[in-house]
Formats: sequence, structure tokens, C-alpha cells
Amino acid sequence: MTRMWCVRPELLCDDHLRGEHAEHHQLVGTIDNHPHGAAIAEGHAEKGNIDTTRLERRHARLAAEMIDRGMNHDSPLAYDGPTYGAGAVDPEANRDELFDRCEDCAARAREHDR
Ligand SMILES: [Zn+2]
Ligand SMILES: [Zn+2]
Repeated sequence: MTRMWCVRPELLCDDHLRGEHAEHHQLVGTIDNHPHGAAIAEGHAEKGNIDTTRLERRHARLAAEMIDRGMNHDSPLAYDGPTYGAGAVDPEANRDELFDRCEDCAARAREHDR
């Protein structure tokens, strides 16, 4: 499922960091190339899962965190298409949901909050 968590990148476990990063690229590919890309993006936006106005900056933060962790990143991302989901993503709510769902992310959060 495409999901821009938009929680602090350092709180994401490796899997969620890689996953959210990959979904940024998939989302841009879908919007740019899929015959129903607009409808798909609207569906994600209605659920509060994406905000294309945050795409480039969010991608840059995720990429920087990946490099900090010694992961490879060589996939620049540029998006200048239509806007979907402006203001739709709620990082606070996503934080709670993510930490409920993923013990590894929750453990990182506990470490960082200490
Ligand atoms: Zn990338
Ligand atoms: Zn996680």
C-alpha cells in the first residue's frame, strides 16, 4: 500500500525507511505512466496516505537517512505533476498507527525520545 508516513525518518526501522522511499518512486511512476494514474493517486489522497506537495522534500529526507545508515541511494526524484492530497497527511496520527503496527519502529522511537 502506498503510504507517506511523514514521521521523522530517524524513527523508521530499516524496512519502513526502504519501503516508504520505494513507494515515493512507485507513486511518481504511477502518476506519470499508469493509464489510471490520476484516479489511483486520488484514491490514496482521499485516505490521507499521500500528499504530492511533500513528495520531493520527503524523498530527500528519506534518501539522506538511507545514506546515513550506509544504504545505497542513487535514485533522484523529481515531481512536477498535478497536486494530490495537499495537507492530507497527518504525521501525528501516522506516528501512532506506525508504532502500533511495527515493533521495530516503536523501539527506535523509544530510543530517540529518551
Ligand atoms: Zn530515491
Ligand atoms: Zn517499522
